[in-house]
Amino acid sequence: MEEILAKARPVGRLAPSPTGALHLGNVRTFMIAWLSARSRGGRVIMRMEDLDHPKDKPGAAEGAIDDLRWLGFDWDEDFVQSQRKPLYRDALEVLKSKGLVYPCVCSRRDVENAQSAPHEGEQLHYPGTCRGRFASWGEAFAYSGRTPCWRFRVEQGTRIALDDAFAGHFEQDVAAKLGDFPLARDEGGAGYTLAAVVDDAAMGITEVVRGDDLLAATPAQMLIQRALDLPTPTYCHVPLVVGQDGRRLAKRHGDTRIAAYRAKGISPGSILGFLAASCGWAEPGEDISLAGLLPRFNLAAMPHAPLALGEKFFEVFGR
Ligand code: GLU
Repeated sequence: MEEILAKARPVGRLAPSPTGALHLGNVRTFMIAWLSARSRGGRVIMRMEDLDHPKDKPGAAEGAIDDLRWLGFDWDEDFVQSQRKPLYRDALEVLKSKGLVYPCVCSRRDVENAQSAPHEGEQLHYPGTCRGRFASWGEAFAYSGRTPCWRFRVEQGTRIALDDAFAGHFEQDVAAKLGDFPLARDEGGAGYTLAAVVDDAAMGITEVVRGDDLLAATPAQMLIQRALDLPTPTYCHVPLVVGQDGRRLAKRHGDTRIAAYRAKGISPGSILGFLAASCGWAEPGEDISLAGLLPRFNLAAMPHAPLALGEKFFEVFGR
């Protein structure tokens, strides 16, 4: 019986990227992810997504863990992606053997120039320039002199639909929207997209709670799952924290790093209280712990608009 119950329990994850210090936006998403799993007796996995070498900052991984512990987060297991490269290599080999991936030497600029329509945000459509162009990674590398990326072949008419636990129904014509999308800029497949898919399955993740900037990247991840015969977790994409101008949180909006609040003597409970209030689970100004929030977790109460930090916030928490 114990075993059956354990299997029915959700498994969630916190997946920070050590590209900078942990800030309010990351914490809001992690709070929702943690509460979602723990409020149903579930497990939480900590996964450090440190494969983005040029962008990863020394000390950021340790800093994020320290800040999360200070806020009261806990987890049952932790993993570091840079130590798991053989798994990504194995997955890449499977995709290669199925003829589903190819090396590409196009730069971002090349892909931008090839856009037939204006693109929104980060998502570029790839016209397939390098499809069938090189026999191997080595050949592509020798040709261009820079690190190629692996792309996943998307056949015309490939549509993916998902029912997101928060964002609702979402559908994408992956071929029309993304084309052959990048899997990893690494010979062995150790890059965000492939690693996230492999790890979600390897770690038994049943629900992925993350920022809604990744919603449009989810159909691509689902295609990889299908190609590797991996299960699809439940997805729950939640709104980001933005500045008053509606733009993604950045330094110019003020210092929203958790380390800065710690240095100012602000309590973990007031940070969590503020974030919980923004989700409809606490009164403004409440000081509350994660454990205290467990019985209040309720996705239905959460607003769908991004959380915009206004003047009032900075008056209370400082800039
Ligand atoms: N590491 C990613 C981030 O910090 C999250 C990726 C994911 O949740 O799949 O934005």
